[in-house]
Amino acid sequence: MKISSAEFVISNSDVTKCPKDKLPEYAFIGRSNVGKSSLINMLTGRKNLAKTSGRPGKTQLINHFIINKTWFLVDLPGYGYARVSKSAKKVFQKFITAYFSKRTQLVSAFVLVDSRHEPQKIDLEFMQWLGENQIPFSIVFTKADKLSKNKLPVQIENYTKEMLKYWSAMPNYFITSSSSGLGKEDVLKYIAEINTQLKDF
Ligand code: GDP
Repeated sequence: MKISSAEFVISNSDVTKCPKDKLPEYAFIGRSNVGKSSLINMLTGRKNLAKTSGRPGKTQLINHFIINKTWFLVDLPGYGYARVSKSAKKVFQKFITAYFSKRTQLVSAFVLVDSRHEPQKIDLEFMQWLGENQIPFSIVFTKADKLSKNKLPVQIENYTKEMLKYWSAMPNYFITSSSSGLGKEDVLKYIAEINTQLKDF
């Protein structure tokens, strides 16, 4: 998919105030600092569309972007940042839960995990929750350029092993690097294919 336009639409913490347009929507979520903003900028080919966070936990809002005037890309707040207070975490959980439960336009989520890290409890629990709520998702392994050619497949294999403890199959996944552009075409092709299917439906 060629990105001909990518525009910011609105930020808010209230799902009822998200755009009303019935366009297919794809949400990006993950732990703070996982590389979400960089990935969104890489996918859209825009340097500063999503704000890369010098200070993790800063963007606690649902950010809507409209892509090619045909679908929404949603940048959700990063979770699991230790310095966010317990009460802030609760508020976060509430509006993220509301977003995923009420946003009927949502087609699929992309859960970002840092390819260098061992599976983290918070990510596994979050994917479990998505599964229980029948929300389709893919895993996006980020920062693949930071791993050696040999280490990368080992990390993916370990992650798969962990997932298979809870899932009957490894969910769809992408290996990406915002520095090299790795995975860009795969993610965009995946979205384009779903959008085409939805149009034909
Ligand atoms: P966010 O908090 O999830 O939005 O993460 P950012 O996109 O702000 O990235 C966090 C840090 O990781 C920044 O210092 C980025 O430059 C770095 N980073 C993000 N993606 C990549 C990547 O693919 N490769 C490398 N080497 N660094 C990355």
